[in-house]
Amino acid sequence: MEKFKYFMPTNVLAGSNCVIENENIWAKLGKKAFIITGKNSAKKCGALDDVISVLSKLGIQHIIFNDIEENPSFETVEKAVEIGKKEMVDFVVGIGGGSPMDASKAIAYLLKNTETKLEDLLELGEGETIPLVEIPTTSGTGSEVTQYAILTNHKLKTKLALKRQLFPTYSFLDVKYHASMSEYVTINTLIDALSHVIESYCTINANFFSNLINAGALQVFATCKKDIENKNFTLEIREKLLYISTLAGITIAQTATSLPHGMGYALSYYKNVPHGIANGILLVEYLKHCKEEKVAEILKMLEFKDLDEFAKFLKSVLIFDAEITKEEINSYSDEMVANTAKLVSLGKPISKEEIVEIYEKSIEFMK
Ligand code: NAP
Ligand code: ZN
Repeated sequence: MEKFKYFMPTNVLAGSNCVIENENIWAKLGKKAFIITGKNSAKKCGALDDVISVLSKLGIQHIIFNDIEENPSFETVEKAVEIGKKEMVDFVVGIGGGSPMDASKAIAYLLKNTETKLEDLLELGEGETIPLVEIPTTSGTGSEVTQYAILTNHKLKTKLALKRQLFPTYSFLDVKYHASMSEYVTINTLIDALSHVIESYCTINANFFSNLINAGALQVFATCKKDIENKNFTLEIREKLLYISTLAGITIAQTATSLPHGMGYALSYYKNVPHGIANGILLVEYLKHCKEEKVAEILKMLEFKDLDEFAKFLKSVLIFDAEITKEEINSYSDEMVANTAKLVSLGKPISKEEIVEIYEKSIEFMK
């Protein structure tokens, strides 16, 4: 019998108005909330107002840190932690896409473990945080149910996953917060979720549970394809995309991601390519290195005739215009070769030359 572990300790609440209708949950989190958001979207999408409304009704104080940038940096997290310590907050609420959610995880950890420095989280250790609530406003990262927090470290010139199990305590999923996403952000983030499903399905870490969940997510994705191509993002479609994204979070929490995520970090760090696009452009060339039977299953569930048809779909929805030189590709490939965990996840050896080829062919195809 197959050996595997399944651990997903986050309490997920979904549905219209779930933030304001679950007062009992907010009431037990503490007396002062630290709300972590990006610049605009938490306010614009209505989630921030809902959180403030439920907290105010319960007499819970709050302070807001709204300076989280995309691909959040160590420096920004450290700034927020100082404020959180001074204000003696009891719990953290992350509202936004993966950037505020990931940052809020690191912040909640450092507010629990006040003697620990952020750099220390690059070494393996425990993951206990003060109570942590996540409210995703994109359907992409699944961070609301994963233990991962990915931050940008400018000293090391890369994005890094902290080595802690930073699972949120609660996650609230309400699709009404997703209606304000532009087409561009919607597509970039949904392709991130699709990359999670595909990488999780193909990695050697896949197991019976993750395969079943990912298969379900792929089949639901197939029913959204036409609407995605036509940019017809009704709330009904957005609801399906939100489920796919959270389900993919549940599976990558078990299996981790694979090569496209490892290779995509350099494109985001050096060229500011949004996370979902960075993974998305690499997917097809990556699949050429995966087990044929797995790829055939994925294409069948997504209802694509072959890899070419899948590639055309990706090209029709993704906008990629970064200029990348041969030298840069060479240097990104060196970085990838050093990322042994992601390399091993492929299940067979892959050379630096093959990684260079994946970058080159993917970039060429998007021109
Ligand atoms: P994001 O960086 O959080 O946000 C991208 C943009 O979308 C921002 O401009 C943001 O505005 C805007 N936005 C977010 N929600 C919106 C809404 N409802 N309406 C309008 N605009 C909205 O994007 P993301 O792709 O969700 O997250 C990417 C980050 O997550 C990366 O750092 C990636 O490495 C990480 N990640 C984490 C995991 C994990 O498991 N933890 C998995 C994959 C990726 P504001 O700045 O105003 O908020
Ligand atoms: Zn991702």
